[in-house]
Amino acid sequence: MGLLEGRVIFITGAASGIGRATAAACREAGAAVVATDLGTPEAICASVGLGEGDLALTLDVTDETATIAAISAAVARFGTIDGVVACAGIVGVGAVHAVERDVWDRTLAVHLTGTFLTCKHAIPVMQKAGRGSVVTLSSVYGMTGGTENTPYNVAKGGMLQLTRSMAADYGRAGIRVNAISPGYIETPMTSMLKNAGPVEDRFISMHLLGRYGQPEEVARVARFLLSDEASFVTGANIPVDGGFSSAHLLSA
Ligand code: NAD
Repeated sequence: MGLLEGRVIFITGAASGIGRATAAACREAGAAVVATDLGTPEAICASVGLGEGDLALTLDVTDETATIAAISAAVARFGTIDGVVACAGIVGVGAVHAVERDVWDRTLAVHLTGTFLTCKHAIPVMQKAGRGSVVTLSSVYGMTGGTENTPYNVAKGGMLQLTRSMAADYGRAGIRVNAISPGYIETPMTSMLKNAGPVEDRFISMHLLGRYGQPEEVARVARFLLSDEASFVTGANIPVDGGFSSAHLLSA
C-alpha cells in the first residue's frame, strides 16, 4: 500500500517542474491528484500524464473566483481534499531601483497571494475532515538575501511566515503546514542557467553536493510531508538544497 493511498492531493503549478514531479510522486504513492495550472485541462493532462482517477483543472492562483471553483470541483469529484502543494511560481528579478511596479505586484501575487487564496479555500475542507497537510514552496532565497532578485526573495521570505502562521492556526485542527526551500533545481524556471558557462559553474559551486537538484528530489520530500510518516512535523522549513543554505564554500 502506498504512502498516500486513498488521499486526494491538490497541486497548483502542476504542469511543470517541481509541481509535475510532485503530481507523479503522489500518484505513485496511491493518491488521486487534482493537477491545476494555467493551461487547458488537456494540456495539463498531457504534461503530467494523469490517469482516470485524477482531475486536471485550469487555475490561475491569483484569481479567487477560479480558486473557489477549482476547490469545489475537487470536492465534488472526490468528496474531500487531504493535501495541498502550492507550486505555482514565477521569477521576479531586479534590485529595488530597477524593479517595475508590475513585476513586483505580479511576483507577490502569484507566490504569496496565490498560496494564501489556495489555502484560504482548501483549509475549511480539511477542517471539516479533521486532518490535512499543506506544503508550500519557499526557496533558499526565502532564508538568505540574494542580489538582483528582490521581488522573488521577498515573496519567498513571506512564504515562510505564511507557512508558520498557518501551522500555528490550524495545528489543533489536525492540519500540518510545512515549507520546502529548494536550492537550484533543474526545471524550466532555471533553464537560463543551463550551459551558461562560468555563471552556471558559480551557481553549481554554491551547492555542497556540487550539482543542481532534480524536481523528483523535491517531490519526494513533499510526498513525505503529505503523508502520515510526517505526522509530528508542522511549522517546519525543510531545505532541499544540496547544502546551499548550510555553508559557503571558498572557491578553489
Ligand atoms: P516551473 O516554471 O517549472 O513551474 C511553475 C509552474 O507554475 C508552471 O507550470 C506555471 O505555468 C505555473 N504558474 C505560473 N504562474 C501561475 C499562476 N498565476 N497560476 C497558476 N500556475 C501558475 O517552476 P519550478 O521550478 O517547478 O517551481 C515551482 C515552485 O518551486 C515555485 O514556487 C518556485 O519559486 C519554487 N522554487 C523553485 C526552485 C528552482 O530552482 N526551480 C528553487 C526554489 C524554489
